[in-house]
Amino acid sequence: MKDNKLKILNQKIKSCKKCLLWESRENTVPGEGPINAKIIIIGQAPGAEEDKTGRPFIGRAGKLLDKLLKIANLKREKVFITSPIKCFPPKNRKPTKREIQICLPYLKEQIRVINPQKFILLGEIAFSIFFKNKKLKDYRGKWVEKDNKKYFITYHPAAGIRFVKFKKILEREFRKIKKIIDL
Ligand code: SF4
Repeated sequence: MKDNKLKILNQKIKSCKKCLLWESRENTVPGEGPINAKIIIIGQAPGAEEDKTGRPFIGRAGKLLDKLLKIANLKREKVFITSPIKCFPPKNRKPTKREIQICLPYLKEQIRVINPQKFILLGEIAFSIFFKNKKLKDYRGKWVEKDNKKYFITYHPAAGIRFVKFKKILEREFRKIKKIIDL
C-alpha cells in the first residue's frame, strides 16, 4: 500500500513540468530508501551525477555523505535520502525560493507516506523548510524536537568538500548523531 503510494508519487515526479527545471533535466531524482525508514536525510537538490542516474547523493557530496553515515553507524540502505527539489538546477546553482515552493509538496507527501521519526537536515535550504525564519547557526549540531519528531541540523556535505574546516565539523556532528541512534 505504502509502496504503491510512493511508486505513484515517483511517476508524478517523473512527468512533472511544474517548474522550468524540467526542461534541462535528464532524470528526476525523487530519492531512495526503504518505505518504512525511521530516518530521512534531506539535502538541497540533485547535482550533475544525480541527474545522469536519477539517484540521490552519488556524486562527490554523496561520497562524503557515505563516509559520514559510517561515522554515525548508519547504513545507507536503512535511511531514506532525498531533497526538496527533484530536478537538477543547471550549473549546480541554488534552487530559487519559487522552485522550492513549487516542488515542496512532493517532499511533504514522501514524509507523510514514510512517516520517519528522525530527520537529518543537510544545509540551509533543508533547514529553512522545517524551521521558518530561524537561523541555522542557532540549531546546528544538535537534535531538536518539534511536533514529536527529532531533527538534527548540520551543514550540507558539499560544504565539507570545499573546506576542510566544514568537513571536520560534519564528522564531529555525525558522531553526535551516532550517540542518539545508539541509544
Ligand atoms: S523541480 Fe520539482 S516542481 Fe520542478 S519540474 Fe522538477 S519535479 Fe517538477
